[in-house]
Amino acid sequence: MSFPGQKPSEWYDRSITPEDIKHTRSFVKEFGLKLRIKNVLGGGEVDYIDGIIIINPLYNVGIRNFLSTVFHELWHCICYQRGLYSNYHHEYRLMTRKETDKVRRIGLKAERFVDKKAGEMMSAYFPDVPYQFGYTGNKGKAWYYRYFLDKNYPAKQRKKK
Ligand SMILES: [Zn+2]
Repeated sequence: MSFPGQKPSEWYDRSITPEDIKHTRSFVKEFGLKLRIKNVLGGGEVDYIDGIIIINPLYNVGIRNFLSTVFHELWHCICYQRGLYSNYHHEYRLMTRKETDKVRRIGLKAERFVDKKAGEMMSAYFPDVPYQFGYTGNKGKAWYYRYFLDKNYPAKQRKKK
């Protein structure tokens, strides 16, 4: 799967077509997963129990963002299936303080691992579309802590004097 005749230097983004979604559906199916297009809080989400990759169309308007999010969420599912960063890739449930702290410790590392693998895989399938990394640098880190970790896995409240 690629866009023939296009070199990376000639890359330009374009909007997603119904064919893209159709192709992506059959692609994720090979991993035993389903694709759903639905408005969620961030760019994408996964439902490990039902094996569904959920892509938010509002955040993924171009093909580059769309594919990057699909491969990113796909790798979260692969991690779940293979037990990689298993403290991070689990079903939604109430977490103990200890488990929450663990997630806060390994979270960014797990996201960067997922980004790395997703980028490698995407460049094999779509060599002409550059993967969009989400968690690089201090900017990515700050975003992750503010919008994901602190919301879903808040730090222990310190008692104020
Ligand atoms: Zn992620």
